[in-house]
Amino acid sequence: MSWLQDEQGQRFQLREHSDGPARPDHDRLPRVLVVEDHAELQRGLLINLRARKYDVTTVRTGYGALALAARRAPDAVILDLGLPDIDGTELIIELRRWFRPPIIVLSGRTSPDNKIDALDAGADDYVTKPFVMGELLARLRAVLRREEGNLHRADDSLTHSRAERAVIGRWQVDLASHRVTRANSAAPSDSAESLRLTPTEWAILKLLVQRPGQLVGQAHLLTSVWGPGSQHHTNYLRFHIARLRRKLEDNPARPRYLLTEPGMGYRYQPEPDYTQIQERLDPLRALATHR
Ligand code: CA
Repeated sequence: MSWLQDEQGQRFQLREHSDGPARPDHDRLPRVLVVEDHAELQRGLLINLRARKYDVTTVRTGYGALALAARRAPDAVILDLGLPDIDGTELIIELRRWFRPPIIVLSGRTSPDNKIDALDAGADDYVTKPFVMGELLARLRAVLRREEGNLHRADDSLTHSRAERAVIGRWQVDLASHRVTRANSAAPSDSAESLRLTPTEWAILKLLVQRPGQLVGQAHLLTSVWGPGSQHHTNYLRFHIARLRRKLEDNPARPRYLLTEPGMGYRYQPEPDYTQIQERLDPLRALATHR
């Protein structure tokens, strides 16, 4: 076992850890994004996670993390709060605007306020440095198990109806029947109560609506709709997204549902489900104050 010090003078422990159950097999390795600017700790995490069959990507800056997560969404993020470009808590807030998978904070900041801020910002767990690798790995397994459970439950109940239908302002979008009708309309066949979208608009809208709350990258949208080789024609997307907003959004100049993530892509933001957010935060708040 070895002890190291990070740039804030915090000591942390680095050792190979062999305890704990093996991770269950998956179709693919779970992807973990490690956001840590301390080179030696970053390497330690990389080695330990790879040894346990995680597909690991490391990055030392917050903006780098945002770009990587947008390009290829990881299944979990482990992040330091003291980063060279943006504060880790800010990074969590940015990620949570469109990113759902679990986030574990790994930080030398031990005050309850730091923990509460990070958990309120959307982190799922908080490990303080110095830390024992085995505990971090156990916490990672725990958040991944919870996430998998959530996904299964979502598959059973919500996803099907949600993936095929969406409400955008006054409009209800039905992907299966290719119809846009007034939400709550009693007479959906009435032409005044429905909207026409072009095939291109449908193709874009479908890609966004089927992933509610998630960032869909520019390159993915462009190649899915216009085919290979079109990934640089971001002007096509801007044009058609603007048209979709004019048709669907109440205020196209200030869209609420079809959002731009500058430089990265677009996102369909459904109406937030405040009950779910509250349920997720309450136990975490209790956990943070009792630790
Ligand atoms: Ca740091």
